[in-house]
Amino acid sequence: MATYVHPSSSPLLTSEGDEKYANVKWEELGFALTPTDYMYVAKCKQGESFSEGNIAPYGDISISPCSAIFNYGQGLFEGLKAYRAEDDRIRLFRPDQNALRMQTGAERLCMTSPSVEQFVEAVKLTVLANKKWVPPPGKGTLYVRPLLIGSGAILGLASAPEYTFLVYASPVGEYHKVSSGLLNLEVNHKYRRSHSGGTGGVKSCTNYCPVVKPFLEAKSSGFSDVLFLDAATGRNIEEISTCNIFIVKGNIVSTPPTSGTILPGITRKSIIELARDTGYQVQERDVSVDELLEAEEVFCTGTATVVKAVETVTFHDKKVKYKTGEETLSTKLYTVLTNIQMGVVEDKKGWMVEINHKCQG
Ligand SMILES: *Cc1c(COP(=O)(O)O)cnc(C)c1O
Repeated sequence: MATYVHPSSSPLLTSEGDEKYANVKWEELGFALTPTDYMYVAKCKQGESFSEGNIAPYGDISISPCSAIFNYGQGLFEGLKAYRAEDDRIRLFRPDQNALRMQTGAERLCMTSPSVEQFVEAVKLTVLANKKWVPPPGKGTLYVRPLLIGSGAILGLASAPEYTFLVYASPVGEYHKVSSGLLNLEVNHKYRRSHSGGTGGVKSCTNYCPVVKPFLEAKSSGFSDVLFLDAATGRNIEEISTCNIFIVKGNIVSTPPTSGTILPGITRKSIIELARDTGYQVQERDVSVDELLEAEEVFCTGTATVVKAVETVTFHDKKVKYKTGEETLSTKLYTVLTNIQMGVVEDKKGWMVEINHKCQG
């Protein structure tokens, strides 16, 4: 468990806390927690709306053993990144989309969610408070993790009497740290991630723990991640444990539709738009395993992983290899997207939200 160390007394830091960067070995960042200095916390009683939150020192929180999150998994998470550009501007990528997704999830899990404005403000405040943890350009990003949990105590099955909205952050590097930079996926025909009418379409905490077992099994067989099939037919592909999937054949890019069983990724939505701008036709429709095995190119998208090429897919004892490298659509889209995010090109879409340095106290 991380414990809070005040910035000025942290052995990691060389002087009093106003240096530009925290003392992090940026080159060694993977996708793991590096605790930062501050977090944002706001609370809300059932039937009321969220109080104005506060920035507090990052650290353990006190919570009832009888809380709805502990007992019944009443909780949602989000994930987005703050990017530092060459000119030192720090910006967020489409944070309003994360706010809206949290609202959809809160509705499904019978919680009150913060407004879009409060969500975005909370993310901005958290990033500003932890500004020195935003990696230098090209070295990584500050991953921001908003949580909405049923923190109040409740014994019978019901929604909690109190909710907590909390935002913390950690500098991160690559998500799928594989030496080739390419993914080798295993199509899982034993476990299902999601089913119609369930919660697969929202970032409910309850969706993720059950995915660890198939993920570890895939890992121990030498794969980088799992590709799940739909529960209804077992014939169509859905998504990876934490990212969405696309297949490319000729001029057509296809990806499973967001009809409740897959998570509607913000990267997915952005990549659909960018692929169309690049001259590709994009279809959101059911994609069968057979089609996947006949695709020319396959790639995954998500905030943590960005856009990542899939080198191979294994289904039972069939292993298929796809086109990878400089000439692929995934490489092209990765470049277009990260150039927008890192401020290398002008953001014509209006996707980036600047964090106002002036409001730093
Ligand atoms: C978060 C997540 C994604 C990716 O969503 P982004 O908004 O692009 O980060 C995809 N699939 C699952 C299961 C997820 O949890």
